[in-house]
Amino acid sequence: MNTFVYPGTFDPVTEGHMDIIKRASSLCDRLVVAVLDNNAKNSVFSVEERVDMLKLATAGMDNVDVESFSGLTAEYMKLTGSKTLVRGLRAVSDFDYELQIAFLNKSINPDLDTIFLLANQNHLYLSSSMVRDLAKHKADLTGFVPESIKEIVAEKFR
Ligand code: ADP
Repeated sequence: MNTFVYPGTFDPVTEGHMDIIKRASSLCDRLVVAVLDNNAKNSVFSVEERVDMLKLATAGMDNVDVESFSGLTAEYMKLTGSKTLVRGLRAVSDFDYELQIAFLNKSINPDLDTIFLLANQNHLYLSSSMVRDLAKHKADLTGFVPESIKEIVAEKFR
């Protein structure tokens, strides 16, 4: 079975992430969306909240599972039995950072490969931090986050 892993912070999951999840899941037998439990990143949503939102957003997507992990992605990959990481690329500004992580992962676990999916043009400027800013200012989140989690995100900033 060909399993891909899509790791990230997902604080919270956006329509940009969802686009990558839909496209990546059509390229493999099973896609694991892996939520990084990283205290250093000071996320607004707890790891449990981020996992729950992703589970709601991916309900009905039969070959998609949501898990959380802590520590090094390359080490977690050994546990999943997968050798393929998926990441999304928006602008050139993503590239340098993504390249560094991909090389770091490969140096820790040489069996790993990272595949990049280009962001959908409509989501080029969409990020979790932009969603958090919009929510802080009570803006309508339609089109930015999945419908199923819109209210959860809005509620967090009330
Ligand atoms: P991280 O903190 O690991 O970068 P994110 O949750 O911000 O986690 O992003 C996870 C992955 O999704 C990254 O590869 C990022 O480039 C990608 N991504 C984020 N936003 C978008 C978007 N709007 N379109 C496509 N890919 C995206």
